Amino acid sequence: MDAKTLTLLHDIFQEVQQKRDWKTALDTLFVSARGAFVFDNVAIYLEDPKTKSVEGIYARAVGRGKTAEADAAWGESVASDVLAKKQIVLKQPTQLEKNSDRLALAHLLGVPLYIGSRLSGALVFIRFGGPSYSDPHIQLASLQSFWAAALIERKELQEARAELDSVQRQMRLQDDFVSTITHELRTPLGFIKGYSTSLLRQDTIWDDATQREFLTIIDEETDRLTKLIEDMLESARLHSKTLQFKFSPVRVDSLVRDVTTRITTHHPQLRVSFDIQPIPPIHGDGKRLSQVFENLFSNAIKYAPDSQLTIAMYATADKLRVTFADKGEGIPQEYLPFLFERFYRVPGERTVTGTGLGLYICKQIIEEHHGTIWAESVLGVGTTFFIELPVGDTGL
Ligand code: ADP
Repeated sequence: MDAKTLTLLHDIFQEVQQKRDWKTALDTLFVSARGAFVFDNVAIYLEDPKTKSVEGIYARAVGRGKTAEADAAWGESVASDVLAKKQIVLKQPTQLEKNSDRLALAHLLGVPLYIGSRLSGALVFIRFGGPSYSDPHIQLASLQSFWAAALIERKELQEARAELDSVQRQMRLQDDFVSTITHELRTPLGFIKGYSTSLLRQDTIWDDATQREFLTIIDEETDRLTKLIEDMLESARLHSKTLQFKFSPVRVDSLVRDVTTRITTHHPQLRVSFDIQPIPPIHGDGKRLSQVFENLFSNAIKYAPDSQLTIAMYATADKLRVTFADKGEGIPQEYLPFLFERFYRVPGERTVTGTGLGLYICKQIIEEHHGTIWAESVLGVGTTFFIELPVGDTGL
């Protein structure tokens, strides 16, 4: 290798090292190396240890034949050869082919890719119309394969760590959930038991107004308990994908207005304003979609008390978008990615009761409709929930 190539390699390695994302790092590795080693496409294949089939995990077209970027199938057989022979594979056009269009002739070079000490895949280069690969080119390709393996290993480590973090978080959430649910079940039960025992006392005569007050508390606490148990059952069914959905044409605008009327009957202090454009009916389960909005209302009442709520709705050619905005305290950015996880509650002082199931249920229901739900929030300004649902063939 000459001094010029060494300087080039040094510069490439420095640049690659700075890239955080593995794909961008690989792009840099291959594109910059073209100064010393010209090729048209490159792809990386890994072998599935169980099925032994090879799968393209990265493909990049830098020269001719750019369409090959999306479809890395061109190098699969060379990659399989590399894995079977455990060595570098060169596939040059045959004499017969050489008489055809020069630019259509593919020169392929497959290099083994070792992750740790295990032969895990292959790096395959393609060059249209030659020239053939020289020894320095093959050396450089081997070096790139070594470097690519290190980047893939780093990526796998990062993924494993993210997976571990997620499992640990789930376990912590489950623990929190047990204590939350114990508290959430005990509180209404305590009220129900206390007030019914009081009403049953032989030594006290309660006047009508007091009796009514006690019975109202018992009634409300029973509702709270029922809602809690329903949420738990429903989230379990949604989690195991056993909840039945009944789809029919639904007008989301009327559905939202109905839910609002129902909620404001119980919470007359709520101020809700609408900005609803004409929207087509969608194919959905009205009962479940109502539940989504009931949960959003219930959260707004709990976490953004006394706030004005704004519900907006409009449709594009293929989507219906609903936004549900409050002007509450907001949610710190770092917690937003977890909001829709099962049992997740934003950490902090626990003045408001809850189970962390509401938004999980909302997300599952919306996803069952092939839609998406997410939240944006600005501290001290408020939180907005966004829902997008596909508008399409409603069967009308
Ligand atoms: P729960 O209300 O039972 O805790 P959810 O799944 O409905 O569970 O909500 C998850 C968390 O998201 C809540 O604990 C709360 O911290 C936060 N949250 C939800 N809605 C809002 C809102 N409108 N404003 C601020 N925080 C919210």
